[in-house]
Amino acid sequence: MTITTVNPYSEEKIEEYEEEKLDDVRTKIVDIRRAQLEWRKDIDARISYLKNVLKPNLARNARKIAAQMTMEMGKPISQSLAEVRKCVGLVDYVIENAEQFLQPEPVRTEGSKTYVRFDPLGVVLLVEPWNFPLWQVFRAAIPALTAGNGILLKHASIVTGSSLQIEAIMDTPLFKSVVVSGSNALELIKNVDGISFTGSTSIGERIAETAGRELKKAVLELGGSDPFIVLKSAELEKTAKNAAYARLQNGGQSCIASKRFIVHESVYDEFYERLKEEFSSVVVGDPQEEKTFLGPLSSKDQVGIVKKQIDELRTLGMVETIGESKGNIVAPTIARTEKYFDQEVFGPVALLKKFRTHEEAIELANETPFGLGASIWGDPDEAELIVPEVEAGMVFINKVVVSDPRVPFGGVKKSGLGRELSRYGFREFTNIKTTWIEKSP
Ligand code: NAP
Repeated sequence: MTITTVNPYSEEKIEEYEEEKLDDVRTKIVDIRRAQLEWRKDIDARISYLKNVLKPNLARNARKIAAQMTMEMGKPISQSLAEVRKCVGLVDYVIENAEQFLQPEPVRTEGSKTYVRFDPLGVVLLVEPWNFPLWQVFRAAIPALTAGNGILLKHASIVTGSSLQIEAIMDTPLFKSVVVSGSNALELIKNVDGISFTGSTSIGERIAETAGRELKKAVLELGGSDPFIVLKSAELEKTAKNAAYARLQNGGQSCIASKRFIVHESVYDEFYERLKEEFSSVVVGDPQEEKTFLGPLSSKDQVGIVKKQIDELRTLGMVETIGESKGNIVAPTIARTEKYFDQEVFGPVALLKKFRTHEEAIELANETPFGLGASIWGDPDEAELIVPEVEAGMVFINKVVVSDPRVPFGGVKKSGLGRELSRYGFREFTNIKTTWIEKSP
């Protein structure tokens, strides 16, 4: 099969790639495994690779990979460059903390020495989505690689050029990108030792099913429909600015984008007016231009899905589109409805709902099948009371939900299994090995 990449802004063809044969991919896995047997032995060599190979490569190629991502999936160039910088920050964090995270942990027992080791599993398959082509890969790959694993990357087909550039930036036999279509990726699970998947819930369920059958460790980062709760005490000007950023950055195509705005009835009208104002001030257009904040969606297919969802929302309430949708650009849209809508909208569409009591806000926040992130805006003490009741893997107060290397990233319910980043994510693809020593038998 041939994979064709297309620029979503100009709608011109970029490149064609021949899909690799699965047997050739399996040979690559064998090669990675061979290199991994040496790689797993020496943490100093791994950290030296991060410092002396990966970081300089990333710095040298920052503009090139940023432009490639923008060309393939339409992310505004300023956001692509910010994504590269975020990856540099992750590498620095791992350089600083890897040794500590992988240190054996002593345990007090009646034995003469007991401890827990964190040994690598082997080769980890990464199946990644197109929305943050570099960050999604780095977030999963760098901790797993530094823990001593090898990596096989199957990236989203629409960013195949970025995927191949990432392999060149990684520049190690421990990391290979392969050109394989989604439907064939399942076949590879039996050949690896673990799988890290980021993408839609429906594909995540299929991955989990196959990994379960093969008894392979799986970390799943899936869809989300994050609530953004606005309390009566919220400072509305700043809150509306953050709301617009949280909904529109990356064209609204982020798993942790705030998608449902749950607003106290006393401030609902003012918040709506302010959000509308923020949406109308956004610079929409060519993603290769520095000033653009909202470019096209990643593909024609994605535009079709979002437009269909907007039509469905029209049957549930009032829908307002701010600006003009053209080509693959979908203009910022606000839907006001009190009706239930359980779908994740992967585009610049904000759903607004009203609440009266904390209980009602919590009920609305938890009403979808997802449980990835959530944010609460207003008096921090009041907001903190709500945190334990919110069904989400991450709750931020007066801050847009972010993925930050220092804190675990992941969800509950249909948003996934396991964690990435921080000490918790670092150890997901390790064998947590008990070692118990007695002086003599
Ligand atoms: P997707 O359709 O699930 O694709 C994700 C990856 O899975 C791609 O590499 C895709 O390859 C591959 N794939 C497709 N069919 C497959 C199959 N049958 N078996 C194995 N792999 C298969 O998701 P998407 O539309 O690219 O991304 C958007 C979704 O990802 C949203 O739901 C979003 O919320 C979620 N997401 C979650 C997180 C998180 O951290 N929780 C982060 C970002 C995005 P092809 O491209 O070749 O089809």
